[in-house]
Order: sequence, then structure tokens, then C-alpha cells
Amino acid sequence: MEKARDFAYMRAMQTASAPLMPIPGHIDPVPVPRAFKPRADGRIDLLGLSKADLRMALETAQLEPKQAKLRAKQLWHWIYNRGVTDFSLMTDISKSMQPWLEQRFTISRPQVIEAQVSTDGTRKWLLRSDDGQDYEMVFIPDADRGTLCVSSQVGCTLNCRFCHTGTMRLVRNLEPGEIVGQVMLARDALGEWPSQPEGRMLTNIVMMGMGEPLYNFENVRDALKIVMDGDGLALSKRRITLSTSGVVPMMARAGEEIGVNLAVSLHAVTKEVRDEIVPLNRKFGIEELLQACADYPGANNARRITFEYVMLRDKNDSDADARELVRLIKKYKLPAKVNLIPFNPWPGAPYECSTPERIRAFQEIVFGAGISAPARTPRGRDIDAACGQLKTASEKKSRAELDRLAEEKQAALG
Ligand code: SF4
Repeated sequence: MEKARDFAYMRAMQTASAPLMPIPGHIDPVPVPRAFKPRADGRIDLLGLSKADLRMALETAQLEPKQAKLRAKQLWHWIYNRGVTDFSLMTDISKSMQPWLEQRFTISRPQVIEAQVSTDGTRKWLLRSDDGQDYEMVFIPDADRGTLCVSSQVGCTLNCRFCHTGTMRLVRNLEPGEIVGQVMLARDALGEWPSQPEGRMLTNIVMMGMGEPLYNFENVRDALKIVMDGDGLALSKRRITLSTSGVVPMMARAGEEIGVNLAVSLHAVTKEVRDEIVPLNRKFGIEELLQACADYPGANNARRITFEYVMLRDKNDSDADARELVRLIKKYKLPAKVNLIPFNPWPGAPYECSTPERIRAFQEIVFGAGISAPARTPRGRDIDAACGQLKTASEKKSRAELDRLAEEKQAALG
């Protein structure tokens, strides 16, 4: 127990000694120091530790290096291949060892606060971290695949104007265990243990939930490495997509160190409109962003870059916009696919969705230039699970509370 605490202490000290950095946002994308905090009961959570850290945790708890190596391998299999959270069910670990592990370690899951199912089968979970932060994940089943939309941050700094999450302040980055925890929880809910190479319902992951993943780069990278590990969850990098609003300086690193598919929230083709819709554009402009896409390691015709384009009535949906989109994609010779997303309104949203006719006309221009441009059917609208609608209930409540207070104040004044 002491040694396990030492390990936590050591990691906490490593974190404490890391230079203090601001939470990344409009300022600069900077690496965020990892915070391995011991739980309140002093135990170390094994979920989200890399293979090397898992072994180190066991060694620090005074297991012989050879024993630690063997146990780490067994634990990895039980945690990520079998989905087991209870040490006493790990049948190849001796009966005397199980309580020893139990005293020092735990294997967590995020706490489920609410689970909703849409009429179209989309499922949304409101999750809560140990420190009481709420975030969401969404599972979208299709005939030939099931996609889990995973959050990387609680809230977001980027304030994209069409996005409900963007109206939340950034609370904090999610830890690797909290990101992997979403995948584990979805697998629990879908009954998909042990991990099978074929016939899974959860086949794809998109880092498109709450937050900008490239502003939480290291935690997202470490979490996705666990998700891709062949001895555990074993999801192929070809089935994982990381979506960015255009954090240009981190894109090459994402390609090199994670290697998953790239999606870019483009949403506009002129500086004026993109500055308004995706304010990060004021910092990293369209041309710079498209050059980073052209340089993205591993992008080719078999692994195209997806450009997300939300259809906003009379804002970004003209024929001229469609032609400019085509021109830009061709100029940078991008292996591209364009996802046209009908805008999902939320209360107080400053935009309306383009008409179906307009979306079709836009689509025909892009498609006519030889670029795939499917118009996405909104999923889970009735449970606020559609693209750009994620916002945690606790935040909604606090807003409601604020509105009520504002009304009361006005009534008192008037
Ligand atoms: S679209 Fe993504 S990056 Fe932009 S505000 Fe919403 S969650 Fe943040």
C-alpha cells in the first residue's frame, strides 16, 4: 500500500514539478502535464496507464521486475480484452495475489449520470468524473458500423458559433483514463466483451465529442494508443478519426504520433465567414490549415481527409461557396471527402439550417467536381446528441439558474 502511494506520489510530484502552463485555448497549443492523482482511498487507477506505466506501478508496489512484467501482461489482457474490473475474477492470478492488487489498485469506469436513447437508436450518456465534472459520449449505430463519438475535454475554449459545446467554458482536459473509459463503458453497455476482432457493434471511434482534441494532445494520444493496442481493445487506426477545428501546429504531430484518420471542421471558405463561425481561423487561416492537411502524414486517396461543413442558411451555403471549396481542395491536391452537415439548432443558436434544396445544389457542385460530398442525416436530434449539440446538463441547469436570477433581478428593478 505504501509503495502504491509512493507511485502516486512520484507521479504527482512529476506533475507538480512540470512547468505551470495555462490551459490551452486561444493562446498557444502547449502540452498539458499529466496529472496522475491518487484516488481518495489511496489506490491507483490502472485504467488509462500505458503498458510501461502499468508495469512500473506494480514494480513500485514492490513486485519483482519479472513478476511485474508477467502481472502487467495479465492485467492488460483482463482490463482491455475481457473488460474485467474485479481482480477476484482474474482466474490466472493467484488467490493470494488478488486481494494484494485490490488493496493497491482499482480499475474504474466513468460514473453514468444519465443514459438516453433516441428514436433512431442513437444513445447518449452523461458521464461524471471523480471530481464531479460532467461530459458526454454518443453511440451512433448504423447498418454496417457503430460509431462512438468520444469527448476529449469538459467544455471547450474554441467557441465555434454553431456549436452548443462552444458556449460552455473549458473546465478541464480529460485524462487518458477518462477518454479510454468512454470506450470501455460503451463496450460494457453493448455487451462486447471479450474483445472480438469481428462482429462488433462498436466498430469506429470519432474524437468529435466535447472539446478540441489537439488542445489535449498528449492525453488523447496516450488514450488512443491504448484503444489501438492489439492485445486489448484492438481498434485499427483506420477506424479512428480525430477531428480538429484547425490547430495547425499540432496536426503533423497527430499524424506522426497517433496516425489516425483526420477530419477538419472547415465550415467556410472565406476568411470573413470562417473568422465568424470558427474563431480559431483568426489565428490559423484557411490557406495555412489546408497546407497542413496537404502535409498530413499518411493522407492518400485510400485514407482521405474529411472536411466537415455545417450548412448554415445564407451564411456559407451559396454556389460561390461550393465552387471556392472545390477550388481550394484542388489547389492543395487534397485527397478529400466533404461531409455536409445540416445545422442542428439549439435554443438561442444564431443560425438556421440551409434548405434541403440549397444543400442539394451545394452538394451537386462539389460532387460534380469529382469530390465525394455526402449530406449527413442528423442523428439523435431528439436527445440533443447530434453534431454540435453536446452540452452537459449541469451546465444547462446553471444557465437556467442564471436566467432565473436575471429575471428576478429585472422584476426587482421594474
Ligand atoms: S465545434 Fe468542437 S472545437 Fe468548436 S466549440 Fe464545438 S466542441 Fe469546441
